[in-house]
Amino acid sequence: LNPATEDVVKTVHMASADEIDAVVSKAQSAWPAWRDLAPGSRADVLRKFAQLVSESNEELARLEVLEAGHTIGNARWEAQNVANVLNYMAGGVERLTGHQIPVAGGIDITFHEAIGVVGIIVPWNFPMPVAAWGFAPALAAGNTVVLKPAETTPLTALRLAELALEAGIPENVFNVVPGFGKVAGQRIVDHPAIRKICFTGSTAVGTSIMQASASQLKRVTLELGGKSPTIIFADADIEKAAKAAPGAVFDNSGQDCCARSRILVQRSVYDEVLAHMEPVVKGMHTGNPADESVDMGPLISALQRDRVKSFVPDGAPVLFQGEAPTGKGFWFPPTVLAPISESDIQYSQEIFGPVAVVIPFDDEADAIRMANGTDYGLAGSIWTRDVGRAMRMARGVESGVISINSHSAVRYWTPFGGFKKSGIGRELGPHALEAFTETKNVFISTED
Ligand code: NAD
Repeated sequence: LNPATEDVVKTVHMASADEIDAVVSKAQSAWPAWRDLAPGSRADVLRKFAQLVSESNEELARLEVLEAGHTIGNARWEAQNVANVLNYMAGGVERLTGHQIPVAGGIDITFHEAIGVVGIIVPWNFPMPVAAWGFAPALAAGNTVVLKPAETTPLTALRLAELALEAGIPENVFNVVPGFGKVAGQRIVDHPAIRKICFTGSTAVGTSIMQASASQLKRVTLELGGKSPTIIFADADIEKAAKAAPGAVFDNSGQDCCARSRILVQRSVYDEVLAHMEPVVKGMHTGNPADESVDMGPLISALQRDRVKSFVPDGAPVLFQGEAPTGKGFWFPPTVLAPISESDIQYSQEIFGPVAVVIPFDDEADAIRMANGTDYGLAGSIWTRDVGRAMRMARGVESGVISINSHSAVRYWTPFGGFKKSGIGRELGPHALEAFTETKNVFISTED
């Protein structure tokens, strides 16, 4: 469905467990030749894939606007991110070097061996980038891939698979199979020939995937939920911090695992921060995501809109709210809740929609306690002009990705992932390929 209009965009077949089995066995057969391709040749074909993705940027972006309701500007960025990730990972193929370790009586060297068939399970909130963060390093490291997009957003992944073939990636190396989580997803997790699962999605499903993988000691990378804080100290550039805070929650309509949905503000500047935030939130333009001037599109589905609504029941402390279209489409306006307490569910649970809470804190110790006071630990932003405080806070907050005086979270050349219930393992960055390999240690005797 197009979430902005509720019109059907396309009907897509959902794979059965048997169909997954058939794809996995093809991916298994394709593996040795792909693994053994000369590193330079594997890099070349991935670069060609990147080039085709880049050339198809507008087509892919328009498709994402249609199926996911992303604003056109964001969708273009997302498609380009796929090309950038492919290029970056292609550069890693020839740098996937091992060690030579001093030992007595011989030579010791290590290899990063490809694992085999990798299962990649993708959510709907960033269908293209999240898919690429899995498939690009997996392919670069010499694995074959079976990727299941989310039920609601299969179209860009299917198009990427066509571009991969066009680029010269051999048949059955990169397989995209739409399907339901409990059927196709579950079979990917349970299939004994799939040697690693790279999952991005909710903490609940991630936990069940880890449990199911345990029986086969299957490797997992899990990128899960978040409830990240923006922390604004009184010594920060208050206007800049306050004006940036709404965008860090409401981008992608809040459907962002890194959304800074808890805005923690030092008590002495609480009113000042809110005064700067209010016009930004009220001025956000929510509407047709294909319109270049729109800041926020719809939510992905009626289910998600109802879920988000349940966090803002009648009588909820709505401090201020922007506007959203009425009528068809899964709309929800940008919403700021305050006063709120640490025991409220809006404070501790991931809402995954355009709802932020603002809450005061007293000092550094209080800010760290509150920042760490949820089950999650994915991202966080710290706003202060005091370098020492910035570093104490950055080290004290239990999160995988911290920004100081900024809300940036994800660069494809820096590591990304969560502490605590936000996940296990890291994606992207200089070591991305290693997560899709096993280290092999080889000792060669030099004795006569
Ligand atoms: P979800 O967990 O419902 O679904 C994610 C994927 O898992 C979908 O493809 C779904 O079909 C599949 N799935 C569902 N049940 C399954 C099962 N039993 N076995 C195998 N696969 C199954 O998540 P969602 O609602 O699509 O995405 C939103 C969540 O993703 C949020 O919690 C968000 O924070 C998280 N997320 C995390 C990151 C990150 O990098 N940490 C990035 C994006 C999204």
